[in-house]
Amino acid sequence: MRSLFFLFLFISFQLYCEKPTIAVFNTGGTISEVEDPITKSVVPNSKNILLKKIPQIYELAEIMEINFSNIDSSQMNEYIWADLSKKVDEILQDEKIIGAVIIHGTDTMSEGSFFLDLSLKTNKPIIFTGAMKNSSDPFSDGPSNICNAIIQILSKVNFGVTVSLNQYINSPRFVYKTDTTNPQTFKSYEHGYLGYVFEKNVYKLNEAPKKLHFPIPDKFPKIYIFQDYPGSKDEIIKFMADNKPDAIIIEGLGSGNVSSDIFKGIKYALDKKILIVITSTVPEGGVFPVYGDIGGGKYMLEKGAIFSRFLRADKTRILLLFALPYYKNNKEELIKLLNNF
Ligand code: ASP
Repeated sequence: MRSLFFLFLFISFQLYCEKPTIAVFNTGGTISEVEDPITKSVVPNSKNILLKKIPQIYELAEIMEINFSNIDSSQMNEYIWADLSKKVDEILQDEKIIGAVIIHGTDTMSEGSFFLDLSLKTNKPIIFTGAMKNSSDPFSDGPSNICNAIIQILSKVNFGVTVSLNQYINSPRFVYKTDTTNPQTFKSYEHGYLGYVFEKNVYKLNEAPKKLHFPIPDKFPKIYIFQDYPGSKDEIIKFMADNKPDAIIIEGLGSGNVSSDIFKGIKYALDKKILIVITSTVPEGGVFPVYGDIGGGKYMLEKGAIFSRFLRADKTRILLLFALPYYKNNKEELIKLLNNF
């Protein structure tokens, strides 16, 4: 009887002390990369020792480490992100895992996080983080970013998928990398940050946008991006069109305009029934049908191009990877989605 009582006490104590479990997916990026002493260049580290260097996180939570990949994020693509998305959903089915940290290179983090935001089934918090200074740098921002990502998951504030670095929390839909080397690189422009992490607290600044979920297609559509510039010529768009893409995204000037010469290329592609989607090179604001001269936004809309109102070209491409197969021939629904997203 006495021993049963002690066993009961022991189990209750264990349950009381049990820390929540958080999955940490390593995919690579500067955060885990090291400086090669001979070449002095920063390269992926074959030994996955990043988390071992941050013992504090093991005091906060049980950590389930998953070594998904060890690549610079310039090597990422839609098929790797699709595998990552499926793996995260599979692991997070385990009820005891309360959320996941995705360690990822910063160069393509805004696209990768948006990809997972659109495809993940789980509603648990998923925090993308990385670093601007590699792991051999004594002042690397990696360890504090990982700690803050864990704190964010442990807090009661759940924004779903976020990009969280340098204490700031961003929505994958709005976030952009804005500086090549500065740790305060991720910003959400006019939409603002979702929140801010300080010590063990998360301060909510904005609501997360409504989540949109798409199934992951077996084969992704072929989508090109053309960035316009003064003096550009139509031959590149014609070259793209001859390679039979499903869509060409045009990063237009200002509110979504191109020169009359570029419009010749766009017309060539439209005649081949290739979807032309207009975005802007300008970081803030939307594209609107204002100008009626050849190549003006209103003119292109009337000739059959469509607008991606608020998303820039890279994020429009990520959205179309899912939306094109999903809406198939329903152009009206696609236009509605791109006009309001
Ligand atoms: N080249 C790195 C990457 O994107 C940059 C970084 O992680 O900060 O993988």
